[in-house]
Amino acid sequence: MVERTILEEHAVAERHGLLGGKKIASSTEGQIERLTYVRACDFCGRHPLTEYSICRSCGGKLCSRCGIEFCGRHYCRGCLIELLPISRNTFKVMLCVMHGKASASKISGLTRIPKQDIRLCLALLSEMKLVETKGLSVFSRQELTAEGVEAVAVFRRVYGADEDVQELEANLNEGNEEELVVGI
Ligand SMILES: [Zn+2]
Ligand SMILES: [Zn+2]
Repeated sequence: MVERTILEEHAVAERHGLLGGKKIASSTEGQIERLTYVRACDFCGRHPLTEYSICRSCGGKLCSRCGIEFCGRHYCRGCLIELLPISRNTFKVMLCVMHGKASASKISGLTRIPKQDIRLCLALLSEMKLVETKGLSVFSRQELTAEGVEAVAVFRRVYGADEDVQELEANLNEGNEEELVVGI
Protein backbone atom coordinates (compact mmCIF):
# COMPACT_ATOMS: atom_id res chain seq x y z
CA MET A 1 0.00 0.00 0.00
CA VAL A 2 1.13 3.48 -0.80
CA GLU A 3 1.35 5.65 2.22
CA ARG A 4 -0.61 8.80 1.76
CA THR A 5 0.05 11.87 3.80
CA ILE A 6 -1.96 14.97 4.16
CA LEU A 7 0.20 17.62 2.61
CA GLU A 8 -1.14 20.97 3.49
CA GLU A 9 -4.29 22.75 4.44
CA HIS A 10 -5.18 25.14 1.67
CA ALA A 11 -7.74 27.85 2.21
CA VAL A 12 -9.71 28.56 -0.95
CA ALA A 13 -12.57 31.02 -1.40
CA GLU A 14 -15.77 29.07 -1.98
CA ARG A 15 -17.70 29.54 -5.21
CA HIS A 16 -20.86 31.59 -5.75
CA GLY A 17 -23.77 30.29 -3.74
CA LEU A 18 -21.83 27.52 -1.96
CA LEU A 19 -21.38 27.69 1.77
CA GLY A 20 -17.91 26.23 2.15
CA GLY A 21 -16.46 23.47 4.29
CA LYS A 22 -13.61 20.98 4.17
CA LYS A 23 -12.96 18.82 1.16
CA ILE A 24 -10.32 16.25 0.47
CA ALA A 25 -8.65 16.30 -2.91
CA SER A 26 -5.79 14.39 -4.47
CA SER A 27 -2.96 16.39 -5.87
CA THR A 28 -1.45 15.48 -9.25
CA GLU A 29 1.33 13.56 -7.48
CA GLY A 30 -1.26 11.38 -5.80
CA GLN A 31 -0.90 12.98 -2.42
CA ILE A 32 -3.86 14.02 -0.41
CA GLU A 33 -4.59 17.64 0.22
CA ARG A 34 -7.15 19.00 2.53
CA LEU A 35 -8.86 22.04 1.10
CA THR A 36 -10.78 24.34 3.35
CA TYR A 37 -13.33 26.25 1.37
CA VAL A 38 -13.76 29.51 3.21
CA ARG A 39 -17.17 31.14 3.21
CA ALA A 40 -16.63 34.39 1.30
CA CYS A 41 -18.87 37.21 0.17
CA ASP A 42 -19.73 36.50 -3.49
CA PHE A 43 -19.67 40.19 -4.32
CA CYS A 44 -16.65 41.78 -2.64
CA GLY A 45 -14.73 38.64 -1.70
CA ARG A 46 -14.58 39.54 1.99
CA HIS A 47 -13.86 36.44 4.05
CA PRO A 48 -14.18 34.53 6.24
CA LEU A 49 -17.85 35.31 6.64
CA THR A 50 -19.37 34.55 10.00
CA GLU A 51 -22.58 36.49 9.51
CA TYR A 52 -24.01 36.65 6.05
CA SER A 53 -27.25 36.74 4.12
CA ILE A 54 -28.31 35.14 0.86
CA CYS A 55 -29.52 37.16 -2.11
CA ARG A 56 -33.16 36.26 -2.63
CA SER A 57 -32.81 36.40 -6.41
CA CYS A 58 -29.44 34.90 -7.35
CA GLY A 59 -28.56 32.92 -4.21
CA GLY A 60 -25.21 34.67 -3.75
CA LYS A 61 -23.70 35.02 -0.29
CA LEU A 62 -23.67 38.59 0.97
CA CYS A 63 -21.58 40.22 3.68
CA SER A 64 -23.16 42.95 5.79
CA ARG A 65 -21.75 45.64 3.47
CA CYS A 66 -23.01 44.13 0.20
CA GLY A 67 -26.45 42.91 1.33
CA ILE A 68 -29.30 45.38 0.86
CA GLU A 69 -32.60 44.81 2.62
CA PHE A 70 -35.77 45.53 0.71
CA CYS A 71 -39.23 44.51 1.95
CA GLY A 72 -37.67 42.25 4.57
CA ARG A 73 -35.52 40.34 2.05
CA HIS A 74 -31.87 40.65 1.17
CA TYR A 75 -30.56 41.33 -2.30
CA CYS A 76 -27.28 42.03 -3.99
CA ARG A 77 -26.96 45.37 -5.76
CA GLY A 78 -27.48 43.94 -9.26
CA CYS A 79 -30.59 41.93 -8.38
CA LEU A 80 -32.09 44.86 -6.48
CA ILE A 81 -31.73 47.16 -9.50
CA GLU A 82 -33.28 44.46 -11.69
CA LEU A 83 -36.21 44.21 -9.29
CA LEU A 84 -36.70 47.94 -8.90
CA PRO A 85 -35.12 49.71 -11.89
CA ILE A 86 -33.88 52.89 -10.22
CA SER A 87 -30.81 54.32 -11.94
CA ARG A 88 -28.49 56.80 -10.28
CA ASN A 89 -30.14 59.69 -12.13
CA THR A 90 -33.60 58.47 -11.09
CA PHE A 91 -32.35 58.30 -7.51
CA LYS A 92 -31.15 61.91 -7.76
CA VAL A 93 -34.55 63.01 -9.05
CA MET A 94 -36.18 61.23 -6.10
CA LEU A 95 -33.89 63.07 -3.67
CA CYS A 96 -34.92 66.40 -5.20
CA VAL A 97 -38.63 65.52 -4.99
CA MET A 98 -38.12 64.48 -1.36
CA HIS A 99 -36.70 67.94 -0.68
CA GLY A 100 -39.68 69.65 -2.30
CA LYS A 101 -37.92 70.39 -5.61
CA ALA A 102 -40.33 68.78 -8.00
CA SER A 103 -40.18 70.87 -11.18
CA ALA A 104 -38.05 69.67 -14.07
CA SER A 105 -36.21 72.99 -14.34
CA LYS A 106 -35.36 73.12 -10.61
CA ILE A 107 -34.19 69.52 -10.64
CA SER A 108 -32.19 70.11 -13.81
CA GLY A 109 -30.48 73.09 -12.20
CA LEU A 110 -29.50 70.98 -9.20
CA THR A 111 -28.50 67.78 -10.97
CA ARG A 112 -27.45 68.95 -14.47
CA ILE A 113 -29.64 66.18 -15.89
CA PRO A 114 -31.45 67.36 -19.08
CA LYS A 115 -35.06 68.40 -18.48
CA GLN A 116 -36.56 65.88 -20.88
CA ASP A 117 -34.77 63.06 -19.02
CA ILE A 118 -36.15 64.35 -15.74
CA ARG A 119 -39.68 64.35 -17.15
CA LEU A 120 -39.18 60.73 -18.22
CA CYS A 121 -37.85 59.84 -14.75
CA LEU A 122 -40.85 61.47 -13.08
CA ALA A 123 -43.26 59.63 -15.40
CA LEU A 124 -41.52 56.32 -14.66
CA LEU A 125 -41.55 57.02 -10.92
CA SER A 126 -45.25 57.78 -10.95
CA GLU A 127 -45.87 54.60 -12.96
CA MET A 128 -43.95 52.67 -10.28
CA LYS A 129 -46.09 54.47 -7.67
CA LEU A 130 -43.03 55.95 -6.01
CA VAL A 131 -44.09 59.53 -6.78
CA GLU A 132 -47.61 60.92 -6.73
CA THR A 133 -49.20 64.22 -7.66
CA LYS A 134 -50.92 66.00 -4.79
CA GLY A 135 -53.28 68.95 -4.94
CA LEU A 136 -55.24 70.46 -7.80
CA SER A 137 -54.13 72.06 -11.07
CA VAL A 138 -51.80 75.03 -10.47
CA PHE A 139 -51.31 74.09 -6.84
CA SER A 140 -50.44 70.49 -7.61
CA ARG A 141 -47.02 69.21 -6.70
CA GLN A 142 -45.24 65.90 -6.83
CA GLU A 143 -44.30 64.07 -3.67
CA LEU A 144 -42.79 60.74 -2.80
CA THR A 145 -45.26 58.06 -1.76
CA ALA A 146 -44.54 55.93 1.34
CA GLU A 147 -43.01 53.33 -1.01
CA GLY A 148 -40.94 56.10 -2.60
CA VAL A 149 -39.55 57.13 0.80
CA GLU A 150 -38.66 53.49 1.47
CA ALA A 151 -37.03 53.17 -1.96
CA VAL A 152 -34.86 56.23 -1.23
CA ALA A 153 -33.68 54.63 2.02
CA VAL A 154 -32.93 51.35 0.23
CA PHE A 155 -31.15 52.95 -2.74
CA ARG A 156 -29.13 55.26 -0.51
CA ARG A 157 -27.20 52.06 0.22
CA VAL A 158 -26.63 51.61 -3.52
CA TYR A 159 -25.77 55.16 -4.62
CA GLY A 160 -25.35 57.10 -1.35
CA ALA A 161 -21.55 56.91 -1.28
CA ASP A 162 -21.12 58.20 -4.86
CA GLU A 163 -19.49 61.62 -4.95
CA ASP A 164 -22.09 63.35 -7.17
CA VAL A 165 -24.93 62.01 -5.03
CA GLN A 166 -23.27 63.25 -1.84
CA GLU A 167 -22.74 66.65 -3.44
CA LEU A 168 -26.39 66.86 -4.43
CA GLU A 169 -27.56 65.85 -0.94
CA ALA A 170 -25.32 68.49 0.63
CA ASN A 171 -26.77 71.17 -1.69
CA LEU A 172 -30.31 70.06 -0.97
CA ASN A 173 -29.71 70.08 2.78
CA GLU A 174 -28.16 73.55 2.69
CA GLY A 175 -30.98 75.17 0.80
CA ASN A 176 -33.72 73.42 2.64
CA GLU A 177 -33.07 73.46 6.35
CA GLU A 178 -36.54 74.51 7.42
CA GLU A 179 -38.28 71.85 5.40
CA LEU A 180 -35.91 69.22 6.71
CA VAL A 181 -36.80 69.97 10.32
CA VAL A 182 -40.49 69.59 9.51
CA GLY A 183 -39.91 66.58 7.26
CA ILE A 184 -38.22 63.27 8.05
ZN1 LIG B 1 -19.35 41.85 0.42
ZN1 LIG C 1 -28.31 38.74 -6.37
